[in-house]
Amino acid sequence: MSRFLHKKFKSLIPYDTSEEIESMKGYVRLNTNESPFEPSPKARSYAFQASQGLNFYSDPECSLLAEKISSMFGVKQSEIVFGNGSDEILNFIFAAFCENGAAFPDITYSFYKILADYYGVDYVTIPLRDFRISPEDYNELNERTIFIANPNAPTGIALTLRELEKIITSNRDSLIVIDEAYVDFGAESAVKFVRKYDNVIVIRTFSKSRSLAGARLGWCMTSENIARDMKTIKNTLTPYNINAMTQAAALGALEDEEYTQKNIALIRMTRDNTKTRLREMGFEVLDSSTNFLFARHKTISGEKIFNGLKKYKIIIRRFSNPPELADFNRITIGSTEQMQILLEIMKGIVKNETK
Ligand code: PMP
Repeated sequence: MSRFLHKKFKSLIPYDTSEEIESMKGYVRLNTNESPFEPSPKARSYAFQASQGLNFYSDPECSLLAEKISSMFGVKQSEIVFGNGSDEILNFIFAAFCENGAAFPDITYSFYKILADYYGVDYVTIPLRDFRISPEDYNELNERTIFIANPNAPTGIALTLRELEKIITSNRDSLIVIDEAYVDFGAESAVKFVRKYDNVIVIRTFSKSRSLAGARLGWCMTSENIARDMKTIKNTLTPYNINAMTQAAALGALEDEEYTQKNIALIRMTRDNTKTRLREMGFEVLDSSTNFLFARHKTISGEKIFNGLKKYKIIIRRFSNPPELADFNRITIGSTEQMQILLEIMKGIVKNETK
């Protein structure tokens, strides 16, 4: 730490990317819930075409994308905000709307806590029950902004729309942020609530089902007033936050819905087959509505499973914190071939460890 760092940042604990950097060194990457499939050919060719205009600044409103999303998702362009990944959307929300504090599940996407700490937001965490979010626990939150990943990560379990609506209607003085990073893999989108209620933000990303994690693009849909506030924050901090090649690639991806849907179907099928096979090997696997599985073995520690796979250059995500997750690992669903290899190696690990 240098002597110039502001004292308010001296105890910051940032998002830990060390394992992600390690995984880029020749590993099969099943640790960050990316898509195993390349971006759609249309996304790539649009990005290449856009590279010709890189001498100009990018469109700060992402107008072509906003137009496309507006027609696909039934919201107005003025109700859409784009971020450099959905992480940046979360950043804008914590900056703008958490004066009365925040609330989120005790086990959920780790970035909520990291951003709350960064902005000095007072937050409460609400325990899951049997790995599930229980809507009845989301009462009397005193105008705190409520963050719900649906489906939740790392559990993979989704709430129904009826359950989500219960949280919204019990907290009409709170802003409800529904993070739908994984919704395409098996949950129902809450986007219709953006029209019905004025206290809802639905966040989406291009990083998962649309194979564009490296392009960094997320967006949210919300009421016009909330969107305007968020754009004030965006235009203060990073007016040109989405680069031109990313805007073009994302448009290409949206125009190739067939490609996205085909990949989603394949991931879901591979996920369900992998789940069955892991259960046969003695794993407890939570029912997932996402592109990952959250699993622990009945007798073998999570660490042994993790290290056993790492020896074969496969990297999954370990959860050592909180203690009740100590034996869980989160396994991203890769291609069918990658999962076949994983299962073969896993069979060997289980056999060796239970001798
Ligand atoms: N929300 C959830 C629940 C996530 O798991 C992730 C990524 N791991 C994100 C948001 C952020 O994704 P991105 O910034 O790539 O859009």
